[in-house]
Parts: sequence; C-alpha cells; structure tokens
Amino acid sequence: MKTYLRILRYALPLGSFLPTYLFFTLLTVVFGILNFTILKPLLDVLFSNEATVKTLSPPAIELNPQYLIKYFDYLIADQMQTGGQRAALYMVCGFFAASIVFSNIGRYFSTVMIEGLRARVVNRLREHVFSRLTRLHLGYFNNERKGELISYLTTDVQEIENSVGSSTAVMIKEPMTLILMIWVLITLSWKLTLFAVLVLPLSAFVISTLVKRLKRNAGETQQALSRILTVLDEALGGMRIINAFNAIGYINRRFQKENTEYSRLMVTMARRRELAPSISEIFGSFVVVVILLMGGSLVLGPDAEMSASAFSTYLLLFSQVLRPAKEIVTTIGNVQRGLASAERVFGMLDLEPQIKDKPNAQTIDRLTKGVEFRNVSFSYGDRKVLDNVSFTIPVGKTVALVGQSGGGKSTIADLLPRFYDVAEGAILVDGIDVRDLTQQSLRNLMGIVTQESTLFNDSVYNNIAFGDEAASMADVQRAAEVAHAAEFVNKLANGYQTEIGDRGGRLSGGQRQRLSIARAVYKNPDILILDEATSALDTESEKLVQEALSHLMKNRTALVIAHRLSTIMDADIILVVQNGKIVERGTHQELLDMGDGLYRKLSQLQAM
Ligand code: ADP
Ligand code: MG
Repeated sequence: MKTYLRILRYALPLGSFLPTYLFFTLLTVVFGILNFTILKPLLDVLFSNEATVKTLSPPAIELNPQYLIKYFDYLIADQMQTGGQRAALYMVCGFFAASIVFSNIGRYFSTVMIEGLRARVVNRLREHVFSRLTRLHLGYFNNERKGELISYLTTDVQEIENSVGSSTAVMIKEPMTLILMIWVLITLSWKLTLFAVLVLPLSAFVISTLVKRLKRNAGETQQALSRILTVLDEALGGMRIINAFNAIGYINRRFQKENTEYSRLMVTMARRRELAPSISEIFGSFVVVVILLMGGSLVLGPDAEMSASAFSTYLLLFSQVLRPAKEIVTTIGNVQRGLASAERVFGMLDLEPQIKDKPNAQTIDRLTKGVEFRNVSFSYGDRKVLDNVSFTIPVGKTVALVGQSGGGKSTIADLLPRFYDVAEGAILVDGIDVRDLTQQSLRNLMGIVTQESTLFNDSVYNNIAFGDEAASMADVQRAAEVAHAAEFVNKLANGYQTEIGDRGGRLSGGQRQRLSIARAVYKNPDILILDEATSALDTESEKLVQEALSHLMKNRTALVIAHRLSTIMDADIILVVQNGKIVERGTHQELLDMGDGLYRKLSQLQAM
C-alpha cells in the first residue's frame, strides 16, 4: 500500500482531477447501468403492463434507484395515456439512445483523463530514475549493474505503467459499478439479491478449486514426453551400436512403450481438462437455475412480489455483475507484479549518494598553488589498490604516471575529481581537502581526456561545447584549432553541425580523440587529467593527437598517465606506479640514471 501511494505521489498535484474524473466515471457507470434497466419500461410498453399504466401521478422524490424506476413508470404511463403505446415506445427508445450517448461521453473523457494521469506519472518517474542514475556514485556503474540499471528505466517502469497505471482506473470504476449494480438489483428484489450475494462467491470458490484440481498433473505428461525424447536421443546417438548388437527390435519396443504411455497420459489429461469448463458451466447454471426458480416464484402466483418486466431486467443486470467482479480480481493480481517492480525502482531511488557535499562546503574558482596527494590509500571493496601514495603537482607543472597496467594509475586520476573518496590520507587542492569543496567547483577546475574518447550522439559543435549552452562559435572553433581537429571538421559534410553518430561512430579513432581534446581545450581547465589519451591510436594519429596535447599542456597543471614513455619525457616529475605504490620518482634523465630501476627497464622494452 505504501509503495502504491508512493507511485501515486508522482501524479501530484491533482488539482481538480479527482472530482472531474469521478464525475465522468459516475456518468459512465450510471448510464451504463441505465441502459440495462431501460429494458423494464420497454417490456412494460410492449406488453402494456397494468401496474405501470396505472402509475398516473409523479412519485415522491427519494434518493435511490427505486425512485428513478418509479419516475420512469410515471413518464411512460403519462405518454401512453396521451399518445398511445407507439409514442411511449419512441420515448423509451429515445431514453435508451440518450443513455448510450451519455455513458460513452463519460467513458471517453474518463479514459482520456486517466491516460493523461498515467503518462504524467510514468514520465516523472522515468525522469526521476534517470536523474537519480546520473547522480549515483561512480563505483555503481560497473558492467554487471548496467543491465540492471537499464531495466529500471525500461522494463520496471513499463511494468509499473501497465499494472499500476491501469489499475487506478479499474479500482475506481469497477467497485463503483459493482456497488451501483447491486444497489439496483436490491431495489428490484432484495430477496433475490441477498441470495445471489451469498451463493455467488461460494460457488465461484467451489468452481475455481475444482478447476484447479483438474488442471494439475500437467507435469506428468511433460515427464513422459521427456522420456520419449531420451529414447530418441539415445537411439540417434547410438545407432551404430544398436545395429551392431542387433538391438533394433529392442529399441523399437522401448520407444513404443514410452510412446503409448505418453498417449495414455494425454488422453487422461484431456478427460480431466475438458471436464473443467463443463463442470464450471454446470455449476454456474445451477446458480442461475436457482435464481430463476426463486425469481420466477416471486413473479408467479396471486400475490406476485415482482413484475415480469422487473424480473427480466433483473436477470439481464445480474448477468453483468460478474464482469466488474472478475476485473477487480485480475487487477489485484496485476498490481502485485507492478508493485514488485516499483519496489526495485524505489530501492534504487532511495540509495544514499556516497559522495556528498558537506553542508558548509567551500567553492574554488582558480588553482593558485597546486595539488597534493598526502598519504593516500584506497580500496575497491576490500581490495587495496593504492597504498600510501604521496606526491605534489605545483601549479603549472606536469606530473606523469607510468607503470604496468593494473598498478592503480587510473585510480589515482579518478580520486582527484573525487569520483571516489580516499580511504586514508587526503587530496588537497590549494591546500584544501577535496572533501571540503563542492563537487561542482572542484570538477569545474578539471578537464579530462581518457583512453576511450567518450563522445555523444550529437553535432561536433555540441560535443566540443559539451554542457555549455551559451557557447560561441568562435570559442568552439578556437578549441578545435588547438586540438588539431579544425582541419578534419571543416571537411565534414556539415562542418561543425555534422552529427557524429552513436559514440562518435562516424569518425575515426584519431578524430574522436582530437574532439575529446577539443572538448577539454574548450573548457580551458586549470587542471588537466590525461589518462592514456593516445594509447588507443595508430602511430599516425597518435602523432597528431600528441601535438594537440602538448599544445594543451603548455603552462598548465597536468596529471598525465602515459602508456608510451616517449610522450612524457618532458614531464617535470615522472612517478613509477607499481601495485598501488610509487616505487620511483624523478625526471626522465634522473630515472634513467638510476641504474637498474623499473623505469629504465620499461624504456628499454619500449625502445625495442
Ligand atoms: P591502471 O590504470 O594502472 O591500469 P587501475 O587504477 O585502473 O590501474 O586499476 C587498479 C586496480 O584496481 C586493478 O587491479 C583493477 O582491477 C582494480 N579496479 C579498477 N577499477 C575498479 C573498480 N571500479 N572496481 C573494482 N576494482 C577496480
Ligand atoms: Mg588505467
């Protein structure tokens, strides 16, 4: 129930929705039932019912269906007196037509209203889920979870839409229909209705248990079939041996045995299965027969309690009672499914973000001194990935990280924009712990280029000015210039307005990477983070990209992770990272001079 209400909260504010909706639903339901009750006056007119014809004065006003019926009787009697049977027939038919029109007007508007509500709920829910996704802590996005996250937005929201959405309409309309129908039935004959209300649920229960029992044992035939398949499988696989051992007769007999058994079970099943509809119909009819009997005896006899026309109307209406009841039961089942989905989705919505701004977080808009990693340790789960890492990047200097893959270099780069929080130690930007800064202002200082150029299915222009809605063409062009991207962009069919396809699929690897660099240039960040920005490229485009990068790094504070040592020879400090530790540090020359260090080994390997 709580979950259900929480879904409905997405529909707020409702304003005048509920009264209007109830009005239209009431219109549908009331006139829908009226369509059936008009049968009585129709029969009265056709058979010139004595009692009705005698109703000559308007009845006293009462607030129940009885009044309506009496008033109808009066109107028709009046019409019969003045215009004869035919005129009365016209009037009844007119009522019937009008009632159909009204009930359908109500149906149309109430359905459209509920669809609008449903669309709004789903739209908002999806939006909420998506915006929550984009604010999830980055560690959440490893591959196993991706499918799960996508299913939240698609299957689960769909499920909520299907079941909970339509159920709202059913749960308002059908009980209303049911109650009104029963009310009218009571007005027509409370004795019959009391009986029906007692007998119907009981017989429904008896029938459904019977049917369920009959439908069991489907499993047995399944097993028999699988035994046939086993024989077939063995026969096909062992044909050589069967022939060699002259066992053809034997295997045929085995097949026949299983086959006969299967047929026997099928027939038994069919006997039981086909019994179900018959039994349920017989039981159902019994109920009807009993009602016919009871109703009939109310109509017959000298002191008849009920007119024949009223009884006919009763029967017709009674035959309709089961529909809303069935609908309610089905809907309850559907809602259960929707609620299961809703609980999954809400579970995700309720996740606390792991990286949060402190209430009194500071902002920073320029880097003036530099960045420091102070005794930083970090683990993914219980796996320690960084162990006591310390280094500084003075403003305007370049620090390069090299080392075997898996050593922890990318992790170091991820900690600086605070994609994760350190386990021990601290990362300081201009002497301020990154945890004391707002994420917004911290990340505003940084531009990141990674190995896989992450581009979006949009124009070149929008990919460079990424997220800046007030971008100017001149700035975008200048950024492309610096990134050595302008030349190829100008050759594209629509220049800067060219759509680059899913993840930039219409561009080559080198072009994609130069666009990512242009994006970083455009942002003109104080701190540049390059994580193997060139390692996915062929030598030709690497050269171009490397030039673009050198341009970008000039006089900028940079943390560069390099795959090829030649690209970071000019770095102010090179750190060799191995198994989460910094094992060597110094300039290119210093490291080479260290004799038998790791850096020297790496550079020798690459020289070959
Ligand atoms: P490098 O960039 O030096 O190749 P990484 O920093 O990417 O190394 O990874 C360091 C270690 O942390 C690796 O052993 C890697 O398997 C592990 N690792 C990286 N990212 C995650 C993650 N999101 N969850 C769990 N383990 C990770
Ligand atoms: Mg890496």
